[in-house]
Order: sequence, then structure tokens, then C-alpha cells
Amino acid sequence: AKKGGGNRVERYCAQMNEEAMHRLEMGGHLRRAIEENELFLCYQPIVDVHTGAVKATEALIRWRHPKLGLVRPDEFIPLAEETGLIHEIGRWVLKTACRQTKQWQEMTGNNRLSIFVNVSPVQFQHERFVDNVKQALKQSRLSPSCLHLELTEHSMLRYLSSTMRTMDELRKLGVGIAVDDFGSGYSSFHYLKRLPATILKIDRAFIEQLHANASDEAIVKAMITMGHGLGLETIAEGVETPEQLNRLRDLQCTYAQGYVFCPPLLAEEVMQYVTEKQK
Ligand code: C2E
Ligand code: CA
Ligand code: CA
Ligand code: CA
Repeated sequence: AKKGGGNRVERYCAQMNEEAMHRLEMGGHLRRAIEENELFLCYQPIVDVHTGAVKATEALIRWRHPKLGLVRPDEFIPLAEETGLIHEIGRWVLKTACRQTKQWQEMTGNNRLSIFVNVSPVQFQHERFVDNVKQALKQSRLSPSCLHLELTEHSMLRYLSSTMRTMDELRKLGVGIAVDDFGSGYSSFHYLKRLPATILKIDRAFIEQLHANASDEAIVKAMITMGHGLGLETIAEGVETPEQLNRLRDLQCTYAQGYVFCPPLLAEEVMQYVTEKQK
């Protein structure tokens, strides 16, 4: 006999309810997660393609749920956006990432070591967002030039005029702006020219077949050339193999990040990685 029973509509409603319940439940869990310190940050090194030195790390959030185990950001960031919890989470990420990076700078004596922080478009729209950034910088005493905020191409273009204003304010502070997942959205050259971005992060989708697919190579090459022409640095995302890395080096990409170097690391593991690379 079939499980579930009922007609299609009833089954659909039951499923919707279950989903709604699940979301509601998870929303409650997420609120508690903030209070109980279940959220933490991993950091993935961003490496100079030519010298192998660590330029920066990207902060990537994780949720250690007491029952479900590790929950990935793709699963809970949308929920955080819907419930508005993203503002509180985002403030915590900024504060923690800046403070951690300042600490690494002091430990290594490298005061250029930078941090890339992902920002949700919802968070970016908040009227106090720039104030929150200022506060995180002030509290940590991190130089604004060592902080880069990542916004996806898609979210930059969604509310173009207000986003543009906020980006201009951040640029005036000296904070960098990276276009995340570049190439994956509706990038238009018209907008790209106007965006006050400082860095392009080339989406993993173009890197995957880089060594094997002539079209991907042509596209990546064009992105890097265009980036440099616009005065932007380029970071290739999701670099997994030495072959991909070699091609990126030939194409004059500035930086790369991905499993070819290492996965996102726990904060305690980063220091060891950075100092090994400095030798
Ligand atoms: P993203 O910003 O595009 O981050 C890159 C994702 O690719 C990360 O997944 C990273 O762990 C993964 N990755 C890194 N190297 C490789 C590789 O060589 N191969 C492959 N296949 N994957 C690689 P993660 O950590 O699960 O994050 C997923 C997304 O969640 C991020 O995509 C970002 O959009 C979002 N996210 C993460 N942390 C935050 C945060 O603090 N705030 C906000 N608003 N979003 C965040
Ligand atoms: Ca990112
Ligand atoms: Ca990305
Ligand atoms: Ca992404």
C-alpha cells in the first residue's frame, strides 16, 4: 500500500505543512543557536597564485546543531534572512572575523593579512549596516583596507541604487568590495562599469573544467583581462587541482582559493597554515 494516503492536494498540503513546521522549528532553533553560541566561523585561505603567500581568508559560517550536527550555511542563511535574524548573525560574523584577523596580524607581524566577509543582500539593505561595519572595525582596531565585503553579483544588482550608495560609503571608509560568484548571475557590462567594486571573485562553475574546456578557458581569460582593465583584482574560487592552478597562473589571475590549498579551516588551524606558507 502507498504511504501517506489521501489525494494529491491533501498530500501536497500535508507536505507543505510539514515544511512550514520544519521552517518554524528551525527558526526557533536558530534563535537559540545565537544565544547558545552554536554558530562559529571557518576560514579559507586566499592565496597569491604566483608566490603562494596567504593574502587573506574568507570567513564561512557554520552551525553546530546539538542534534542535527553540522548545518551548512546554504540551509540556514535563507531562513535567517526570512526571520530577520540575519542582522544579528551578520553583526556577529563581522565582529568575530575582524577581531580574529587583527589577532592573526599581531601573531604573524603581517598587518596586511585581510579578511573577506560574506554579506547577505538583506543585511546590506539595513539602514545601520555601514554603522555596524564601522563598529566592527573600531572594536577590533582592524584597518579598513584589510576588510573586504563579498556581495554576489545577483544581490548587487537587485536593489541597484540603494546598494550603490552603501557601496560608495563603504569605499569612502576604505573597505573593499568583492563581487562574489562573478559570472553566475546577470552581469551586465553596463553595471559592472558603474559598480564601485574592488575585486572580482570568479565563480567556481568556470574553474571546474578550466584545464579541459576551451570555452571555459576563454571566458576565464576574458574575465581576468577585463578585471585588470577595470582596475580590479581577481580571485578564482573553488580551485581543486594543480592543473587548474597552473592555467590560472598562466592567465595572470592574482589569487585563488579552494581545496587545492585547503578546505575552510578552524580558526586554530589557520595560524599553522599561514606560517608554513610564509617560510
Ligand atoms: P560562497 O561565498 O560562494 O562560498 C564558497 C563555498 O564553496 C563555501 O561553501 C566553501 O566551503 C566552498 N568551497 C571552497 N573551496 C571549494 C572547492 O575547492 N571546491 C568546492 N566544491 N567547494 C569549495 P560553504 O562554506 O558551504 O558556504 C556556502 C555559501 O553560504 C557561501 O557561498 C555564501 O554564499 C554563504 N555564506 C557562508 N558564510 C556566510 C556568512 O557568514 N554570511 C552570509 N550572509 N552568507 C554566508
Ligand atoms: Ca563568498
Ligand atoms: Ca562564491
Ligand atoms: Ca555562492
